[in-house]
Amino acid sequence: MSLAGQLYKLQQLDMELQKKQQELSEVENQLSDNKVLVATEYKLASQKEQMEDARRKQKSSEWELEDLQEKVRKIDNKLYSGTTKDSKELVNLEKEVKGLKSQIRMREDALLGLMGQVEEIEAEAKITAEELERLKREWEQRQETLRPRKGEIETVLAKLRGDRNGPAQQIDSETLNIYERIKLTSGQAIVKVEKGRCLGCHVTVPTSQWQKVKAGDLIQCNNCSRILYLE
Ligand SMILES: [Zn+2]
Repeated sequence: MSLAGQLYKLQQLDMELQKKQQELSEVENQLSDNKVLVATEYKLASQKEQMEDARRKQKSSEWELEDLQEKVRKIDNKLYSGTTKDSKELVNLEKEVKGLKSQIRMREDALLGLMGQVEEIEAEAKITAEELERLKREWEQRQETLRPRKGEIETVLAKLRGDRNGPAQQIDSETLNIYERIKLTSGQAIVKVEKGRCLGCHVTVPTSQWQKVKAGDLIQCNNCSRILYLE
């Protein structure tokens, strides 16, 4: 095989390698991308915290209400047991009950508001928890499909790297350097000549050069510098 032929073979392997490497990094990205999952976990944790907070407030509001109701009961006992005869004291006690009862009404309204809040946060947290479950299932399914896929690509990559050693070892280092340099600037370092044109830039190759290529010399296109190859 001519030197250009070996380079062409090398390039085909390199292109295949590049494609597989890209596939591998895409699969790896998908395997590690858990941003939505983590964000949903945070959201749920924060909603649970809010829920605990609202429940604590509800509990303490209930206790305060019970205290007030207990106070009213005690005064009512005093008022209706007949133990207090002093009319001034009776008037004062009735006033106190009135004040306490208006406090109780306010507390009851506040408690209703808190209970509504707890229910609201509970409903939100339930939706988030379901969403999180769905995301976890999706994540696991993705891992199950992508892990074997990753293994397959790695096997192909290892084989391609082995295959590349063949032509790479037969090409002298100076030619390899030229190849790598053109690859870096032009992507494809070696291109076919078809109907007298360079397939890299589509400019006609002079007959003298074309004949050198045909003879097996390593010739670069005058226009795009790519190495020319004739099958
Ligand atoms: Zn060209």
